[in-house]
Amino acid sequence: MSDSAAVSNLVSFIQARQTILDNVAPLGCEQVGLLDAVGRVLAKDMAAPWDMPLWDNSAMDGYAVRSADCLHLPGVLKVTGSIPAGAVADGITVEAGCAVRIMTGAPTPVGCDAVVPVEETDDGQTVVTLLQPVKKGQHIRVRGEDVACGALFVGAGTMIRPPEVNILANFGKALVTVYRRPVVAILSTGDELVELGTSPVAGQIINSNALSLAAAVTECGCIPRIIGIARDNRESHLEKLQEGLQADVLITSAGVSAGDRDLVRDVLEQLGAQQLFWKVAVKPGGPTAFARYDSTLVFSLPGNPVSTMITFEEFVRPALLKMLGQRRVVRPLFKAVLRDGVKKKPGKLQIIRVRLEKEDGLWYATSSGNQQTAILKTMVDAQALVVIPAECGAVAAGSEVDVHWYGNYCDLEGAAE
Ligand code: AMP
Ligand code: MG
Repeated sequence: MSDSAAVSNLVSFIQARQTILDNVAPLGCEQVGLLDAVGRVLAKDMAAPWDMPLWDNSAMDGYAVRSADCLHLPGVLKVTGSIPAGAVADGITVEAGCAVRIMTGAPTPVGCDAVVPVEETDDGQTVVTLLQPVKKGQHIRVRGEDVACGALFVGAGTMIRPPEVNILANFGKALVTVYRRPVVAILSTGDELVELGTSPVAGQIINSNALSLAAAVTECGCIPRIIGIARDNRESHLEKLQEGLQADVLITSAGVSAGDRDLVRDVLEQLGAQQLFWKVAVKPGGPTAFARYDSTLVFSLPGNPVSTMITFEEFVRPALLKMLGQRRVVRPLFKAVLRDGVKKKPGKLQIIRVRLEKEDGLWYATSSGNQQTAILKTMVDAQALVVIPAECGAVAAGSEVDVHWYGNYCDLEGAAE
C-alpha cells in the first residue's frame, strides 16, 4: 500500500478528538464538604442568600465622622464613643461636631458618612484633630457593594479554587454540589509484564504504564483503579475487560496494534462494545482505538510508554476534564520558534517532545532529544509538546509552530523566564 493510501484509512487527529468529545458529557453531581470540592467543578449556580457586606462598615481603623463637620482644617471633633470589630452600632450616633472611634470592619453608626483613618489624625482619645481633607463616603464599605442579595456569585462550571472557597464560606456554604469524579479502570495487557516490586528476568518488563496512567488520571482529578494485567489469551482478556467495563472509563494499554496477540479490540467487540474509531493519523499514538459500552468510554492506547502518555494527554485527558464538568478541556496552543528542523511527510499530525525557553519576548522550542517512541527519557525531559499539523511536510529550523505545555510546568525552572 502506498503511504497516502495507508493514511487515507486513518481517522484524522482532529476528527478523533471531536468524536471523543461528542461522546462525553459531564457526569452526575454530588454534594461534598467545601474543602473536598477544591479542584472540582461547581454544578449549580450559586445566588447570594444575603448582601455582602451585610452592613455598611469601616474600611479603616479611625474615626466615624460627618463629612460636613470636616470642611475646615485642622478640624477638631469631640470623641463620643468607640465601635470595635464584632460590635454592633445600635444606639450609637455621630452627632454634629463629634466623632466615634471605629475599627476596620465594624458597622458604621447613624450619622456617619465618612471614616477618617487614624493616620490622618492626632489619634486623640477625647478630642481628635483631623489633619487631611475628608471626602463624603470615604473609607466606607457599602452594604451589598461586593455581592448584592440574590446575585450570582459563582456560576455552574466554575472550578473551585481558594477564592471560590472563601466566597462560598462567606455565604455559609459548608456543602457544595460538584460534578462526580469519574472512576477510571486501568488495564495493562501482555505476557511480558510483571508488577513493580518483582525483578524482571529476560524478556520481562515492569508494568510501568499502569502506574503512569494512574498518576495522569489522578492529576486530572479523577479516581484511578488499577485492575491488573490481561495476559495474551482470550480468556484473560474477557475476564479483565469485563471487569474494566464496570467503571466510568476504561483505559487499556498495549495489544491494540495489528499483531496476532493484539486482542483488545476483538474481545471488546465480543463483549458488545461499539468501536467508534481505530487508528489515528498521529505520530506517536497511531494504533489508538476508542469505543463505548453503555455509558462506559473505552480508550485503547498503544503500549509503548511514550505513546501511552501522549495519547492519554491528547485524547483521554480532554474527555476526563469534560466529564468533570470543566469548560476548557484542551490545553491552549501558543506559538514557538523551532530550534531544530523536523523531517516529516504530509499525512499524519506529529507531536514532538520539547523544552521551551523565552528570549526577547519569543518562545523557542528545542527538541528534548531522540524522538523515537521507544525513548522514554526524552518524555521525562519534555516540558511541552509541539504539534505539527497533518498537512505539513518538513519544517525548517526557525519556523513558527504550535506548542502546548505538558503537565504543570509554568513554575519550573526555565519554563517561564
Ligand atoms: P504491544 O502493543 O503489546 O506490542 O506493546 C508495545 C510496546 O509497549 C512493547 O515494547 C511493550 O513491551 C510495551 N508495553 C506494553 N505494555 C506495557 C506496560 N504496561 N508498561 C510498560 N511498557 C509496556
Ligand atoms: Mg502486547
